[in-house]
Amino acid sequence: MTHQHPGILYVVATPIGNLEDLSPRAARVLAEVSRIAAEDTRHSGRLLAHLGINTPMLSLHEHNEARRVDTLDSYLMAGENIALISDAGTPLICDPGFVLVRELRLRGRQIVPLPGPCALVSALSAAGLPTDRFTFGGFLPSKPSARRQALEKWQAREETLVFYESPHRIVHTLEALCEQMPDRAVVLARELTKTYETFLQGSPQALLEQLLQDPNQSRGEFVVMIAGAPPAVQSDEQLITAAELLNAMLAEGVGVKQGAAIAAKMLGGRKQEWYARLQTLKGEY
Ligand code: SAM
Repeated sequence: MTHQHPGILYVVATPIGNLEDLSPRAARVLAEVSRIAAEDTRHSGRLLAHLGINTPMLSLHEHNEARRVDTLDSYLMAGENIALISDAGTPLICDPGFVLVRELRLRGRQIVPLPGPCALVSALSAAGLPTDRFTFGGFLPSKPSARRQALEKWQAREETLVFYESPHRIVHTLEALCEQMPDRAVVLARELTKTYETFLQGSPQALLEQLLQDPNQSRGEFVVMIAGAPPAVQSDEQLITAAELLNAMLAEGVGVKQGAAIAAKMLGGRKQEWYARLQTLKGEY
């Protein structure tokens, strides 16, 4: 009896606008697999037609993802290789696929990523904001109060903040930033890899004015990047030496016994030793 080796799930990044960004490896895998699970089969059908690929597709979106797991796994168990794609960019990044990948990984299936376009990485790579650390917040909530709360949560973070935003809400998001982070440098990356790709940078207020003046600048898809909060004032200046504390206590008339107890608590060490030091210092007063 021969055991069928389970197939591989390839998680394939597709273009976020410019079709030339599809890698040759992605094109080969999409042509070679038995099936492609796509967020929207009509949308992805256009990409596949452009590539001359006629691999059968099935839909996998947020409403049927959980139900699709067993079906897709049965194909894998029958030895078929499958590709997962989303409408644009890297699957799972604000796109369906997480439930499937988590479940298949739990079941021990082989999952292979095919790297490629991703709006947040492309935006960061050309924005000129620090990228050594950043926080990706996905889409901000659409309700104004929830959006304000979300921004409050991120406000003190010192790393660059990155959000996805739609054309309907970009003005509202900038208004919220004017209120909550008025002094931050902001970069808007719009229509990446497409004809009207634009990077705008400035304060939230300056960007808001630009968008209100030229409604074309609100069209399309956005990545919003916000410079992190300036580092919190380091408490170094507030750090006091042991001698400063002892002297301050003596100057304020704190008794040697009480002072020794405070010093031991604040600075560690034994009370008796602080007692002795305070006695000596007191003699110098
Ligand atoms: N999976 C995608 C990725 O890898 O970037 C993201 C999908 S998410 C549903 C769609 C959001 O990504 C858009 O609302 C926008 O914020 C961002 N986005 C996608 N393509 C973009 C582009 N060409 N230019 C700017 N932002 C884009």
